[in-house]
Amino acid sequence: MLPLNERHMSAMALRTYLSCPLRFRYRYLDNLYWSRQWGSAPEEQKALERGQNFHLMARRYYAGVDPAQVADPVEQSELEAWIQLLAGFLPRTADRAFHPELELRLNRPDLRLMAKFVLVVVDSDGRATIFDWKTEKRMPRKSYLLKSPQTLVYRYMLCAAGGQYSPRGRFKPDEIEMIYWNPLYPSRWERLPYSEAQFQKDAEYLRSLTAQILRTPREAFLATSEMNICRHCEYQMICHGRRAEQIDTEEEEALYEATLSWEDLPELP
Ligand code: SF4
Repeated sequence: MLPLNERHMSAMALRTYLSCPLRFRYRYLDNLYWSRQWGSAPEEQKALERGQNFHLMARRYYAGVDPAQVADPVEQSELEAWIQLLAGFLPRTADRAFHPELELRLNRPDLRLMAKFVLVVVDSDGRATIFDWKTEKRMPRKSYLLKSPQTLVYRYMLCAAGGQYSPRGRFKPDEIEMIYWNPLYPSRWERLPYSEAQFQKDAEYLRSLTAQILRTPREAFLATSEMNICRHCEYQMICHGRRAEQIDTEEEEALYEATLSWEDLPELP
């Protein structure tokens, strides 16, 4: 694997670092990849699989091909109902450019980032909407989504690296918004507009955060003191000698909301 300074940071990598630097080290420096679902309860694995199948069918729908049979008949009919709701919420029309699974990379000397979008829709007037689907039993809170590294990285990256998809060669921040949608709450979505001021703030924050990660010596990626984060961590067996507990999204959200703050950089080790 490439050294860290030659790799592109993703929203997931930043989120991992912000929640626990040691977890980041295990995953991205030591290349110890353990799925968080390893050993998880069957219903949790089922929910994860359903979400992945929904993403696959949605991608096919926006790519203009048949969503296909991806699951057993009972689950397939539920997924098809979700796709119908999605098509009602955001129909695939000829007057907009649909870019499912769009991947962007930013290669700047002071910032190497990557983002893989679920869907970006571009209008002929140059406005762009980043869509992301959630399939958890409850819709994440707006306050959580606003703090999420996914929102941070996606909106920033479309402005900084997505110019080739704009009819004018560059997206201005106020031409961009991000929408989170969940088929279980089809008429309630979270819309997060962007602005020039936020873009500048995000650029500075992302540069500072990645610089901090890159200059941290391996032994200085310290463990979080927040045991509630450990409870859901796949490396708990190494740190605390026990398996991760089942993930409760509401609890996890509250936790991350309380501990993640990309308004301020975390304390330097
Ligand atoms: S178990 Fe806790 S301290 Fe260890 S890597 Fe995971 S979050 Fe960090």
